[in-house]
Amino acid sequence: MSRIVIIGGGQAGVQLADSLRTEGYEGAIDLFADEPHLPYQRPPLSKDFMAEDDSASPLPLRAGTFFGERAVQFHPGVQVTSVDPAGQTIVASDGTILSYTSLVFATGARNREITVQGSELDGVRYLRTLDDAKALQAELGTAKHVVVIGAGFIGLEFAAVARNRGLDVTVLEFGPRPMGRVLSRFMSSYFADVHTGNGIKLRLGEGIASLTGTGGKISRAISTTGAQYPADLVVVGIGVLPNSELAEQACLETDNGIVVDACLRTSDPHIFALGDCSSYPNAYTGTRIRLESVQNATDQARSLAKTLTGKPTPYDNLPWFWSQQGTVKLQIAGIIHSDDESIVRGEPATGKFSVYCFRDGQLTGVESVNSPAEHMAARKVLEQQLPLTPGLVLDAEFDPKAFSRQSFVLTPSERKSQERPASV
Ligand SMILES: Cc1cc2nc3c(=O)[nH]c(=O)nc-3n(C[C@H](O)[C@H](O)[C@H](O)COP(=O)(O)OP(=O)(O)OC[C@H]3O[C@@H](n4cnc5c(N)ncnc54)[C@H](O)[C@@H]3O)c2cc1C
Repeated sequence: MSRIVIIGGGQAGVQLADSLRTEGYEGAIDLFADEPHLPYQRPPLSKDFMAEDDSASPLPLRAGTFFGERAVQFHPGVQVTSVDPAGQTIVASDGTILSYTSLVFATGARNREITVQGSELDGVRYLRTLDDAKALQAELGTAKHVVVIGAGFIGLEFAAVARNRGLDVTVLEFGPRPMGRVLSRFMSSYFADVHTGNGIKLRLGEGIASLTGTGGKISRAISTTGAQYPADLVVVGIGVLPNSELAEQACLETDNGIVVDACLRTSDPHIFALGDCSSYPNAYTGTRIRLESVQNATDQARSLAKTLTGKPTPYDNLPWFWSQQGTVKLQIAGIIHSDDESIVRGEPATGKFSVYCFRDGQLTGVESVNSPAEHMAARKVLEQQLPLTPGLVLDAEFDPKAFSRQSFVLTPSERKSQERPASV
């Protein structure tokens, strides 16, 4: 009998199991998840869930009845420990050995850890899993001084929640700007102002040098400038590493993630990878990238379900992302570089505006603050690669919704598929 084994019970793995049934797959599906919980949504962990008290429940990815209804054999709390591509089998931590016709890595990512002196002190925390979030939530109830290491999305989302709960919050960021890798300079400095305006001490150009404690418990963070900050809680948010070691052991090609082609197939024809753990050729940037977003995980899963049911489908969805930092909702579509030419539409002082980013005259992405309607229109413009120019955005008459309804232009993979047949 045909069997698809999925490793990882996160956003990508669960969506894939669901979409395989939607696409009519009738074989066996086995989903291995090393976390013991019913699969849950990660984004609220640094937002609404963290804002509540420690009795809050996580938002499930699917109802508890999902696995029975979709005939998916769910293996909670079970890790896949080895893969034999030649024999097409996996071995799991509970002793299960299974043969597969197709195997899918949906193993996600894990936190990058700090190694400075004092990293092991009690009160130094990370935020990736439900267990991490519950531990942090409990400490938020008693902490007074929080130091966040890293001004990326998760660090700043957490910092905003902690500040809102009345804590003294310092954020240390080694780089010159918050969220500097993924936002335009304008948006980055807007968020710096928002957070400092809310009383967060944002220390740019300061990394963590060491941590000191009393009786094994964190009490102070010392930055690379020698500045000292009191801390009874330290939250580290310095990025993630893809969980690709198991794939490496199986001799699959990896390079900042498990390397896949446009149809998400690895260097082994029976093995696929998607979500945070995969490095794929992006149709919009023309480069290989690894994305960490719900959109990427779920859309790749829907696309892969088609490929696995005999309809080879190159993945070419437009990347998009959101973040909620205090009362500010940020939406991003496309892939933005900090040195893109950026044009602001709207009035930032009102807390509602968008930034259109261009490179060599081409629209690369749009960032919107508290402007969902404009953002949806901008997303359509990007998806359809409509010829929006900096001059048009600067025009006072420019109407993103009307512009997005203009004549349809082919998406990158549609254009490519007309040039040459998809290789799958
Ligand atoms: C706190 C937080 C907030 C976020 N906020 C946003 C947001 O606002 N917007 C957004 O778009 N994205 C956000 N993200 C990112 C988003 O949640 C991820 O991109 C998405 O969850 C990736 O899904 P995934 O299935 O690829 O990986 P994961 O969700 O990491 O799931 C992979 C699962 O596989 C398991 N696993 C790994 N190896 C094995 C093995 N050998 N055997 C069995 N199981 C294994 C892992 O333990 C994990 O449970 C956030 C992430 C975090 C942590």
